Amino acid sequence: MNLIKPTDKDTYAVIGNPIDHSKSPEIHALFAKNTNQPIEYHATLAPIDGFANTIKDMIGLGYKGVNITVPFKHEAAKLCDVKSYKAYMAGAVNTMTFVEGKIHGDNTDGDGLLTDIQNNLGFPVNHKRVLILGAGGAGEGVFQTILNEHPAILTIANRTPEKAKNIVEKFSHHSMVCHACGYEDLDHQSFDIIINATSTGLSDTALPIPDSVFADGCLAYDMVYAKDTLFMQQARANGATVADGLGMLVEQAALAFKIWRKVAPDTQVIMKALRQ
Ligand code: NAP
Repeated sequence: MNLIKPTDKDTYAVIGNPIDHSKSPEIHALFAKNTNQPIEYHATLAPIDGFANTIKDMIGLGYKGVNITVPFKHEAAKLCDVKSYKAYMAGAVNTMTFVEGKIHGDNTDGDGLLTDIQNNLGFPVNHKRVLILGAGGAGEGVFQTILNEHPAILTIANRTPEKAKNIVEKFSHHSMVCHACGYEDLDHQSFDIIINATSTGLSDTALPIPDSVFADGCLAYDMVYAKDTLFMQQARANGATVADGLGMLVEQAALAFKIWRKVAPDTQVIMKALRQ
C-alpha cells in the first residue's frame, strides 16, 4: 500500500481503485492555497479487498479525513460510527472525518450536483421533469437531494431495472413523483433535466435511450468529466444544453473541504483554472 505518513500539517486523502485519474488532490491543493489553509492532500490506492484496513491504517497514522471514490462508497457507509442523514439515506459515503478515533460519514455528491445544475448552470429543479440514468452509487447518492427540490417527476432508469426499483421503494411516500424503469420504457417520454449517472462515458458505450427524452430547452448533464461522451453528443444533436461533471466534482469537493476546515472555498476560480 502507498500510504504517505502525515507531516505536521493536517493531512487528508482521496481513496479509490483506480485512483491515478483523480483530480481531487489538485482541487484541494487549490482550495488550500486560496483559503490559506495549511493542509496536505494525497491520492491513495486501496486494494479492492483492503478498504477497511486502509482506513484503519490512516486513522492510526493521524490522517484527519478522507474522500472516497469508486468503488468504495457503499463499503465506506458501513464503516462509519456516525452518519449524516444524507449519507444514511444514500447508503453511501464520499467524505469521512476522523474524530477521536471515530468515523463521521457524509455524502456531498447530491448537494454538489444540485449546486452545479441550479446555481452554476441556471436550471432550477423545482416543478421540472427530471430523469436520472443509472442506479449505481452516484445515481442513488443524488436521488434524494433532487427529490427534496420538489420536481414534477423524478424517474430513475437503469440497465438492471431492479436496482432503480429498490431506490424508488425507499421513497414510496412520494409515489406520485418517483418512477423506476428500464431504458426500453422511456419511449415517448420527455424530460427537462436528464442526468447521466452511469459509467458508460468512461467506456465509450452508447446508452439505448430514445431521442424523445430530450425536451425542448432541456439540460443534459453527464457526471463523467473532461470528455465529450456519446450521451453528450446525442443530447447536443437533439438541441439540449450540455454539461459535463467537472462542476459537480468541484462543488462536492468544496462541501467536503468546508466540513473539514469550516471554510467555503470559491469554486468559480477553481473551475476556471481546471478548464484551462
Ligand atoms: P457504479 O456504482 O459502478 O454504477 C455504474 C452505473 O453505470 C450502473 O447504473 C450501471 O448499470 C451503469 N452501467 C455501467 N455500464 C453500463 C453499460 N454498458 N450500459 C448501461 N449501463 C451501464 O458507479 P457510480 O459510483 O454510480 O459512478 C457512475 C459514474 O459517475 C462514474 O463514471 C463516476 O466517475 C461518475 N461520478 C462523477 C462524480 C462527479 O463528481 N462528477 C461523482 C460521482 C460519480 P447496472 O446497475 O445495470 O450495472
